[in-house]
Amino acid sequence: DWINFTDFFNKIIDRFEMTKSGHVSFVRNIPQDELYVDIDTDKITQVLDNIISNALKYSPEGGKVTFTIDVLPSELQIRVKDEGVGIPQESVNKIFDRFYRVDKARTRKLGGTGLGLAIAKEMVFAHGGDIWALSKEGQGTTVYFTLPYDPEQEDEWE
Ligand code: ATP
Ligand code: MG
Repeated sequence: DWINFTDFFNKIIDRFEMTKSGHVSFVRNIPQDELYVDIDTDKITQVLDNIISNALKYSPEGGKVTFTIDVLPSELQIRVKDEGVGIPQESVNKIFDRFYRVDKARTRKLGGTGLGLAIAKEMVFAHGGDIWALSKEGQGTTVYFTLPYDPEQEDEWE
């Protein structure tokens, strides 16, 4: 479906903002512009649900979660940044593998299967995008993904 990604992303964040516990705050760096993309909304909802619930799951008391959309020449770059426990350098690329979880003991008590990001990767790739993460242990994690975007498309809507 062709949808305005700005509205779509804001609505997903709103849903988390309404149900989250008080321990984290949200910051949005999202342009006002209408950014039309052709995506499977159910699948990209699943991608964002997993990335955002991870960010919340690993955030400390008082942590900040920052949501960003950057408009690049031929893609949207979406970022979700947290101030959580972080991921060791040698593991940061493995978190997109099936069943991979960084710290067995820590993650066992937080629940989950270790499939969320593997599924997210499949779905983003199916859209022609990419997904990756940068992290510093003890400082936080940023998960990035891209979606193909054609700025010319906007003109055709007028
Ligand atoms: P599921 O998503 O299936 O409920 P999960 O959250 O453990 O389980 P993934 O979402 O695939 O699985 O994440 C894989 C692992 O990557 C997590 O277990 C965790 O160790 C690490 N991880 C993911 N996101 C973060 C984050 N924001 N901060 C710290 N570690 C993270
Ligand atoms: Mg997860």
